[in-house]
Amino acid sequence: MDPHFARYPFFDGARAAVGDADISPAELIAEDAPAVERGLERVERALMEGTVAPEDERRWTDREELLSYPIARILVSLVDTPAAVDKYAAAEAATAHDRLRADFESDDDGLQSTGTRPVSLNDVLREFDLSGDVRPERDGPDGSGGSSARRSGERRPSHYWVDVGAYLTLSTAEWGERWRLVNRELAAGDVRVTDEELRRLLEEAVRRRVAEGLPFSVRGSAAGEEIADALDDEVTALRNLLNDHDAAGRAEVDAVVPGLFPPCMKELVQRARSDESLPAHSEFSLVSFLVALGMDATEVTTLLGADGEAASRMETRVEYLADAEGAQFAPPSCASMQSYGDCVNRDERCETISHPLSYYAGALRDAGEVRDWREALS
Ligand code: SF4
Repeated sequence: MDPHFARYPFFDGARAAVGDADISPAELIAEDAPAVERGLERVERALMEGTVAPEDERRWTDREELLSYPIARILVSLVDTPAAVDKYAAAEAATAHDRLRADFESDDDGLQSTGTRPVSLNDVLREFDLSGDVRPERDGPDGSGGSSARRSGERRPSHYWVDVGAYLTLSTAEWGERWRLVNRELAAGDVRVTDEELRRLLEEAVRRRVAEGLPFSVRGSAAGEEIADALDDEVTALRNLLNDHDAAGRAEVDAVVPGLFPPCMKELVQRARSDESLPAHSEFSLVSFLVALGMDATEVTTLLGADGEAASRMETRVEYLADAEGAQFAPPSCASMQSYGDCVNRDERCETISHPLSYYAGALRDAGEVRDWREALS
């Protein structure tokens, strides 16, 4: 099996690899195989934390990772709500985005961070039929070299030119003003994008591929009924997760008072404000916490003192986190924060709660009259 399929199970070739594994999802479920547990973790983490990366990378084999993907799709289909599909597809795409960045950097350095050849930009462009649509800047908008002109180990350019049709297909004005065509540099039918913006477009290509065909009908045959019955407990737990986080995330918090944030979030705010580039999981934790307080993109970037590329990235993240129906990704629990190494400076209140939002709700309640930080902005 190509080990890339464990990290990118939505690649076309991964479907054949699942077939070659010689065991059907129904058999995996009947056997309660490890891939079923990993599939459940995949969806749980997608709904709660916006990632499908495992808590413990070493726990699962490549085969289990690969087989967990069709199981996760079955689970999402059985949960059968638009929010579950949206959040699951977004989380698969966000995880792929992080992995692609790591792989591209390894490819630049000629290193093999995953013990196998990293996936290159050319591999991904080919996968999504974009090879003819993206050119590195060094070729210029009229260049004929194409992305395949770049050799492995050669440092990637900071900018690319993307065919306007592909750009318009993958981007949306909802991502913010800077993505609108009128605000872009255009030449010879190509749009100039940064390296990071190109990865954002690829993330969207992944999201669409993952969302395609979801949810599908699982029931409707004897085998389907059996699968659905066997996963009944898991599906109920996932539905409860979706319901819980809406209640936990917004019910008790109606003001933004940074001085009352839990210690972990104060630390992340301070690190972000000092221009540190936070790891993706830390930035997700912080931004999802702020979004759960009802902050919009401008408020988040203002509080964190972000500008330029960092501000754009955070704005995109805020839009991802708060969907059109107002349902939100819950910020990670204290247990997850601990596993990320982001639970720091614990105090007495930390001993009484299991979620940073509960900490903040309690601190707000105890503080009585408070002044909302946002009042100073108006
Ligand atoms: S215990 Fe929870 S609220 Fe307290 S610092 Fe750790 S993660 Fe934050």
